[in-house]
Amino acid sequence: MKLREIYNTDKTVISFEVFPPKENSEKLLEEIKVLKHHNPAFISLTYGAGGNENKSFELLKQIKDTGINVMPHFTCISTTKKNIERNINKLIDLKIENILALRGDIPENKEFQKHDFNYASDLVEFIKHKTNLSIGVAGYPEGHIESPDLDTDINYLKDKVDKGADAIFTQLFFDNNNFYKFIDKTEKAGINIPIIPGIMPIISKKQVEKMVKLANITVPPNVQENISKLKDKDLIEFGIEYATSQCEELIKNGIKGLHFYTLNKSYSTNEILNNIKGVNIWKI
Ligand code: FAD
Repeated sequence: MKLREIYNTDKTVISFEVFPPKENSEKLLEEIKVLKHHNPAFISLTYGAGGNENKSFELLKQIKDTGINVMPHFTCISTTKKNIERNINKLIDLKIENILALRGDIPENKEFQKHDFNYASDLVEFIKHKTNLSIGVAGYPEGHIESPDLDTDINYLKDKVDKGADAIFTQLFFDNNNFYKFIDKTEKAGINIPIIPGIMPIISKKQVEKMVKLANITVPPNVQENISKLKDKDLIEFGIEYATSQCEELIKNGIKGLHFYTLNKSYSTNEILNNIKGVNIWKI
């Protein structure tokens, strides 16, 4: 089922993000089985720059075999048009229907040269032209880290939509107000495709510090206080409680879906979905 049909509902669509584990995939597949009873519309699988492509294709097949739709992420910054075309054809052979089209992070090495595709919008245009895949793209409620300001970033987001994106999946955020402000601005910019909030349960101080550094995410003072004060299990339980209230409020405000950054662990996401009240979850 394609993104455009999935989000064409009044119910809340649940989806999960996972990444290819370093070791074997058995543990991840077990975690996915735990989450399956929440009726995810799909699982998205991240794509690492320089990652093992064959391993990723194998994992896509394994996730599909659990009976859940899978949406691969696909980055374009460090590769050639020929390679992109070859890999997209492989995905089509796997009967993949949806893809998350991304630029990817610019490699830190100074000799990095621009390739055939420099922005996600180039990739969206290519996929739209060459395939019948439904296309998701990334959006940043607090602005992309390289962008001078949110308005500029939203103008480029509009470019991705105009070139054929069907849904936007956001960077995680801890303050819903930033998401609402973003939605207002995207509406004013004429973006009218579903925007799905990305939710990441807090599981450790290190994880939050990493995201703040990489993506400039605002941590509200009450969250920061708990992160500084709590440890291990207590912090995980706080993360569940906090994400639950974030999700409940987002649902009340009419979001079309929740996309969970599971970090390959089912525990917190499972608890959050068990806790959420007043949710009418979309089922296939
Ligand atoms: P773009 O949309 O191309 O934007 C990148 C920057 O360029 C922005 O600052 C934008 O404002 C600017 N820009 C866009 N178009 C133009 C233009 N024409 N001229 C000038 N400036 C322009 N990374 C991975 O490596 N693998 C993953 O699997 C992955 N999954 C992700 C999933 C989600 C939901 C999100 C939110 C991010 C994910 N990322 C992933 C991270 C992403 O690759 C980085 O944030 C990357 O730096 C930007 O990718 P993008 O697709 O948003 O790029």
